[in-house]
Amino acid sequence: MTQNIIVQKYGGTSVGTTERIKAVAERIKDCTKNGFSVVVVVSAMGKTTDVLVDLAKELSSNPSKREMDMLLSTGEQVSIALLAIALHDTGIDAVSYTGSQIRMMTDGNFSNAKIANISTDRIISSLNENKVVIVAGFQGIDEDDNITTLGRGGSDTSAVALAAVLGTRDCEIYTDVDGVYTADPRMISAAKKLNEISYDEMLELARLGAGVLHSRSVEFAKNFKIRLHVRSSFSLENGTIVMPMEEMVEKYVVSGITMKQDEAKVTIRDIPDKPGISAKLFNALGSCNIYVNMIVQSTGHDNRASISFTVKKEDLAKTKELCTELNKDFGGSSVEAKENIAIVSAVGVGMLSHYGVAGKMFGVLSGQNINIEMISTSEIGISCVIDSMYAELAAKALHKSFIEEI
Ligand code: ASP
Ligand code: MG
Repeated sequence: MTQNIIVQKYGGTSVGTTERIKAVAERIKDCTKNGFSVVVVVSAMGKTTDVLVDLAKELSSNPSKREMDMLLSTGEQVSIALLAIALHDTGIDAVSYTGSQIRMMTDGNFSNAKIANISTDRIISSLNENKVVIVAGFQGIDEDDNITTLGRGGSDTSAVALAAVLGTRDCEIYTDVDGVYTADPRMISAAKKLNEISYDEMLELARLGAGVLHSRSVEFAKNFKIRLHVRSSFSLENGTIVMPMEEMVEKYVVSGITMKQDEAKVTIRDIPDKPGISAKLFNALGSCNIYVNMIVQSTGHDNRASISFTVKKEDLAKTKELCTELNKDFGGSSVEAKENIAIVSAVGVGMLSHYGVAGKMFGVLSGQNINIEMISTSEIGISCVIDSMYAELAAKALHKSFIEEI
């Protein structure tokens, strides 16, 4: 019977070679020996998806999204079959399924489809036959049976959605890092692995540039209270559990420091301080599909105010052009663009119940003589825009005083 179901997801590096696939098969075998019914979700091998994207780009600068999904879904079809073959070879019965074979139903939004529902019938009956069930991550089908994909990195979401419909409390996400860290260990060597982190912190970290998991997988996990164990397939050590905040044992005021350098800042100075100006500006940006992140408006003075905001660097040229055009109407004094910025942030659920975190953060930056150009806050995060020249210095100093010296 299928009482003890566990869902495991193995990312691209974990199944990057046949050697790695063999190691994964051994790991799954151990799990079955411990009495678990195992449902495995896999990504495409190594960089396969990137290679497929490049192939399409050689043929067209604007390939059809439907055909892209048809193409990219093949990567996962290879890895599920190979993993099943490897499991058979260790004496474990296993069966692989594509997204369409388990009726992983999505909307029809090619390349970024959302899961609508999943049938568990086929999975359950295979588990009842004592088979390991291997499901292709990242793919589904829409109601017209077209193959869809969930967006890059979407296998995490496939796994968590399966855990949700199968009613399991735990989902293991095997990746090439051994957990979630307090900062990027490549930049800050003192970064520590966290044993626990809440869903909201994980989402906030992803938003602020430290994405370990596909964000939608964390949202799913949050809604269904599934604990995600992010760990390495290269070791037996425990990783980080992403879990409900109420159940956490360790709660830090700040659990992570992030740094992001993919945005640029635009400022329009001295525009009329009256209703409708911001609406006009941001509606225009929105209708050009320009994603705006931070927005700061100065207090008006003499019926004039200035607005600064950040956009993706790749949208900067277009944004500047648009603002210059709009400014002819607004009559502001200038449109300025600055590309060399970084957004450094501190994230932690402890901010919900602690005073003085913002003050401390600004103090740390000023202690390094770093000027803050913009500030924005959320319930559990504080972000500062600074000159990119000081990005690393700032992140290190913040990590030191918020995390190392606690
Ligand atoms: N293979 C897909 C990608 O590279 C999905 C995934 O890895 O989760 O984005
Ligand atoms: Mg991947």
